Amino acid sequence: MAGSEDPRALLRSVFGFDDFRPGQEEIVRAVLAGEDAIAIMPTGSGKSLCYQLPALLRPGLTMVVSPLIALMRDQVQALRAAAIAAAALNSANPAAENAQVERDIELGKLKLLYIAPERLVRPDTLERLAGANVALLAIDEAHCVSQWGHDFRPDYLGIANAARAIGGRLQTLALTATADGPTRAEIARRLFEGRSPREFLRSFDRPNLRLAFAPKKGPAKQVLDFVRRHTGESGIVYCSTRRKTDEMADALVKQGVRALPYHAGLEKEVREANQDVFQKEDGVVMVATVAFGLGIDKPDVRFVCHADLPSSVEAYYQEIGRAGRDGLPADTLTLYGTDDIRLRRMFIANSAAPDDRKRLDRQRLAALLSLAEAPHCRRQTLLAYFGETTPPCGNCDLCTEGTARFDGTVEAQKAMSAILRTGERFGVAHLIAILTGDSTENVLKFGHERLPTFGVGKDRAAGEWHALFRQMSAAGLIEQDLEGYGRWMVTEAGRRVLRGEERIEFRAEAVLPGKSVRRGSKTAPPELSGSDSGLLATLKTWRLARARELSAPAYVVCSDRTLYELVAMRPASVGALRGVHGLGDAKIARYGAAIVELIATTTSARSPE
Ligand code: ADP
Ligand code: ZN
Repeated sequence: MAGSEDPRALLRSVFGFDDFRPGQEEIVRAVLAGEDAIAIMPTGSGKSLCYQLPALLRPGLTMVVSPLIALMRDQVQALRAAAIAAAALNSANPAAENAQVERDIELGKLKLLYIAPERLVRPDTLERLAGANVALLAIDEAHCVSQWGHDFRPDYLGIANAARAIGGRLQTLALTATADGPTRAEIARRLFEGRSPREFLRSFDRPNLRLAFAPKKGPAKQVLDFVRRHTGESGIVYCSTRRKTDEMADALVKQGVRALPYHAGLEKEVREANQDVFQKEDGVVMVATVAFGLGIDKPDVRFVCHADLPSSVEAYYQEIGRAGRDGLPADTLTLYGTDDIRLRRMFIANSAAPDDRKRLDRQRLAALLSLAEAPHCRRQTLLAYFGETTPPCGNCDLCTEGTARFDGTVEAQKAMSAILRTGERFGVAHLIAILTGDSTENVLKFGHERLPTFGVGKDRAAGEWHALFRQMSAAGLIEQDLEGYGRWMVTEAGRRVLRGEERIEFRAEAVLPGKSVRRGSKTAPPELSGSDSGLLATLKTWRLARARELSAPAYVVCSDRTLYELVAMRPASVGALRGVHGLGDAKIARYGAAIVELIATTTSARSPE
């Protein structure tokens, strides 16, 4: 391809996209200008295009380091489907295939080479690549280089050395969806070694994702209700343990849901087979531990449900981010319970991690709880975590359903007074016993039944007080010393409320038991009429058949959005397919005639005449 070609023209003719997504064009131009860059963009924002497009416009080979072989395979298939010379080098390929790829590298036949980090750092690979006219090193999931992060991959530490061995000062583009400060700094330090890459930071807002949290009350039923609102759609249900994953999958199957389990305890074959079905077919619900997902490139996941609290806001964002990558509406629901939270606190307190790591983990947990119990727009709270300010979103549970709030100043004062009068030395169970006037053994032992605070909170059940403590903590009025048996202390902000200088509002829903929480309506792709849905079904069947021929996931043939546009536009000629999302020249050449014919026959067979 000529170096003078315009990126935008190529975007249309090769990828079938009308326009760049926000952020892509600047990065593409920076890469074409030879700059080093770090691109921090949310999942689904289209990071891959930022190196794929320049790769086609420039001489030489673009290398892509990627941590997951399955993901690599899918990307290569998708590129080949668009007639792009791409290949992958990794341990999962048969030896003969790797040998062929190596020959193609030597012959300069490839534009894009995906490579696993452990393969990249091998001396023989480096020698081969040193002579291969490598133009750009793109590092996907660049946060894997960070030891702070949760996805640390030791092989990533060898990438900078490898780059030097291949091309001296090889142009490098690092890509990640992980935004927290320490991780970002570590990426720059370890992958760019003193050079200063340009940083591109995209808004983390994913407006097509509906956000909702709910306190746990019978998670099996809550998950089932949620999944039933999405019958026929692909989705993921995350559980915190293997056992819960198996149980949840069983429970859903018993209710007639097409659910499959996925966790590290399953046989490799079973795991891979389940993942394959999920990737390739419509309407499968994957019930999984967080082991599932990093390698999932399926654009049409319509919902993500957390049956247990995720591990951090970061993890939450990554996990819900697996839904709606195609930009169409997708739904999320996260359940959280007091057990989750207690378990998490214990886990952090008892871990062998160094103190600064524990402090970071505690802060992360506190941020997650503030999100779960946010009094206002959930997206505002979420984006605030990433340093962004936005107006209320209108697409979260709190925006659409609102939440009843009440002035909890008096309750907060009672609770904080109990904390202070007992010398900030006690945990929540004891404090609640005092508030509710429960003469437990410990209360009597310390003579706390004689405190003026004893019984002042009788009007509320212990469970309500637990919720109030969580909300006071989320609002920063009180804090817990986690090393010291979880004793509670009153903060400066808390003292202001105690002195009556400030008031505090709490969410009624989290506090008042028995008031069931109603979650939002189903978010669906564009409404379809009867004949539209008939055509859509026909197109889906056709797509599945083509995907089976390629043994590839359905979206490699074309995305949901492409199908929706075909249904809406009903193109009557191959020429009319230009302009349909996702259909570039290669796909039109390959499938165009078949699609047009399918539309013509389906429509005429169904139309009343
Ligand atoms: P990320 O790596 O940032 O998670 P991907 O690169 O996998 O995202 O892209 C997500 C989806 O968006 C893919 O299905 C891709 O084909 C699609 N996409 C990328 N760029 C565009 C664009 N400019 N217009 C429309 N769709 C796009
Ligand atoms: Zn909102």
